[in-house]
Amino acid sequence: MAHEVPVSTLEGVDADLAQQLSGLGIDSLQDLLFHLPRRWQDRTRLTPIADLQAGEDALIEGSVVSASVFHGRKRILVCTLEDGTGQLALVFFHISQTLQDSLQTGVRLRCFGSPRAGRRGLELCHPEWEILDPECPAPLASGLTPVYPLTDGLTQTSMREICQQALAFLDAPDVLPEWLPAPLRQAHDLWPLADAIRFLHTPAPDVVTSDLTEGQHPARIRLAFEELLAHQLGLQRLRHSIRSQPGIPLQGEPDLATQLKQHLPFSLTAAQQRVTEEIDQDLRSATPMLRLVQGDVGAGKTVVAALAIARTLDSGFQAALMAPTEILATQHYQTFCDWLKPLDIEPVLLTGKTRGKARQAVVEQIASGQARLVLGTHSLFQQDIAFQKLGLVVIDEQHKFGVHQRLALASKGNTGGMPHQLIMTATPIPRTLAMSAYADLDISVIDALPPGRSPITTRVISDSRRQQVMDRVYSVCQQGRQAYWVCTLVEKSETRQGRAAEAVARALQADFAGLTVGLVHGRMAPDKKNQVMADFHAGRIQVLVATTVIEVGVNVPNASVMVIENPERLGLAQLHQLRGRIGRGTRDSYCLLLYSAPLSSQGLARLQVMRESCDGFVIADRDLELRGPGELLGTRQTGAVQFRIADLSRDAGLLDAVRKAAVQLQQQTPRQAQLLIQRWLPQGDQCARA
Ligand code: ADP
Ligand code: MG
Repeated sequence: MAHEVPVSTLEGVDADLAQQLSGLGIDSLQDLLFHLPRRWQDRTRLTPIADLQAGEDALIEGSVVSASVFHGRKRILVCTLEDGTGQLALVFFHISQTLQDSLQTGVRLRCFGSPRAGRRGLELCHPEWEILDPECPAPLASGLTPVYPLTDGLTQTSMREICQQALAFLDAPDVLPEWLPAPLRQAHDLWPLADAIRFLHTPAPDVVTSDLTEGQHPARIRLAFEELLAHQLGLQRLRHSIRSQPGIPLQGEPDLATQLKQHLPFSLTAAQQRVTEEIDQDLRSATPMLRLVQGDVGAGKTVVAALAIARTLDSGFQAALMAPTEILATQHYQTFCDWLKPLDIEPVLLTGKTRGKARQAVVEQIASGQARLVLGTHSLFQQDIAFQKLGLVVIDEQHKFGVHQRLALASKGNTGGMPHQLIMTATPIPRTLAMSAYADLDISVIDALPPGRSPITTRVISDSRRQQVMDRVYSVCQQGRQAYWVCTLVEKSETRQGRAAEAVARALQADFAGLTVGLVHGRMAPDKKNQVMADFHAGRIQVLVATTVIEVGVNVPNASVMVIENPERLGLAQLHQLRGRIGRGTRDSYCLLLYSAPLSSQGLARLQVMRESCDGFVIADRDLELRGPGELLGTRQTGAVQFRIADLSRDAGLLDAVRKAAVQLQQQTPRQAQLLIQRWLPQGDQCARA
């Protein structure tokens, strides 16, 4: 079958080419068949020069009237082509000897490119060109020409050639078998698989290309449907495999949980109480919990996790909490130290920074069970970490992790049972999307913020008013409050324009007499980072210049102003996360979005959404419309939900049908279901093996 045939069996694919292809994730014939063109060009017909339109790809033929090299600031070669309807300039900046030798007066050329308005009227810059034999010109393409995603060193031409070769295999039986049962295909009007693939690589000339590029064509929908289905099946199976393992019923008396509640400086909101009860029920059960707690930033998820942890300790098991960043892990550690102190429980912290003897000690405490609660980062699932009796795994800010990392931690339980899993996310995603993306999880929602929060006023301001913004921050901090100043880049050397956080920190410090400006970014040594965060917590630093490392979880209630530079570079969901760092105290809070002018009216409209709403769900819906769900699900960071063909913003409409089909397929034809998972998720081995 196609996934077993390495690309190197194709003609012309040597070791070098195979390696380049591998860089694109293409190792097998099947990968190649699923490597779809990004767009298509119409080279099936010639366009008369007189009919050319700026910006529209066209194939033209004509004779060279003249070709000369000009020496200006740069050397350029300009070649004039004539086809009987008009003349057109071909412009070349890279001038090779071959090029000069080829473009002789009278030679007949066929060119493809996108004309643009230039100094000489319409021009074609660096078109693709070939010399024609006027006696017998090469035939025109019979179908649309695919344009494939490439990597360095790989050319369109060689990609097209090997894809053509791959397509020839499609006719052989069993190369790419059809796993979707006929009734399912009929019910959803789905094309046969081989037809869909062949069509997308070489569409007929009469197809409306916008249907293809916008993804509405049935050929693409067929593939997207199958891919989404495979993911659904993978998640459902993962859930099934975990839930069918013996769990750890936690039925001890809730002593610590009760004490913890008594010692908290606040009482739980109704929403927190409800979610706590849902979790309690799961924890008591003999089936492993798989629960996602969704709650907007500041909704108070940490305390809900703390109560689940207390319940776990009450039954004599250990608990682990994993956070995506060092800063967040350390902050959680401090919070839990405070909360658990009256209960005589000392949590331990394990991060990348824990090294040498200290690390050894922590590792031993985890193994002996002396450490009842362990907080940390990815370091928690390093190889030498083994728990004595792990009953609960809490993952904070789930969108920063992939399924595999979660499972790696859960597998360290050492109890013969599967630890309960509690996953927390502030990513408010619309319901259909949530049900599909988290098909392996039960979902609880904390849908109200704790009382007494001050609203956040958001302003969208051009950076031409930077000084005024600085004055504002200065005066607020002089009154004893604190501010975040968020930069979207760290180093000057990053090519895109933008102020480096370091330079900003220096500039602010120079301007802010009497205040201390701190700096924190991802590339700083962990020690330094923790020190700065501690200083900010303690109020020794009044203005914290930061990169988006502070995006998740950081909680400093006295900080009530946030400036975000270049907010136009971030997704709305991410801006919402960042903004969630303020508005945590009782003081009025301000978020100032300092964009670099000029910004398109659409860009401005997007930022205005932030001004109009503080509700994560509303913002997520708008973000979904404006940018698509990749951003919402945080796939950028983790690759947790990476689709090859499907695109959740285009294909959201398929999700309901896909979910139903997955359930049906699993029941009626489990072997096909398994084969589909293998076809689309070869690395998702946990899912496939399950
Ligand atoms: P998130 O859901 O974003 O993780 P946190 O758990 O960090 O939110 O909570 C944000 C802040 O709200 C913390 O300072 C926390 O102590 C406080 N908090 C949580 N629950 C309540 C509550 N019921 N009443 C008052 N404050 C609360
Ligand atoms: Mg949090």
